[in-house]
Amino acid sequence: MGFITGLQCRECGRKYNIEPIYVCEFCFGPLEVVYDYQEIKKAVSRETIEGRAENLWRYKELMPIEGEPQVGLNSGFT
Ligand SMILES: [Zn+2]
Repeated sequence: MGFITGLQCRECGRKYNIEPIYVCEFCFGPLEVVYDYQEIKKAVSRETIEGRAENLWRYKELMPIEGEPQVGLNSGFT
């Protein structure tokens, strides 16, 4: 998952590795995905995204999935 560095609790800031967990073990706060914005900037420009089809997958680098999309090729763009 190239651009995701880990998970972080929105309440206490505790950091976690990427795991299928959604709440903080210590304060039960919600966990958020932490992106590596420097790396994203190097790899994806606004022009790249604007040049793609108008669907959800134009943002594929920013989604917490690996590999190519398997479902709903034209989902999204609301
Ligand atoms: Zn927490």
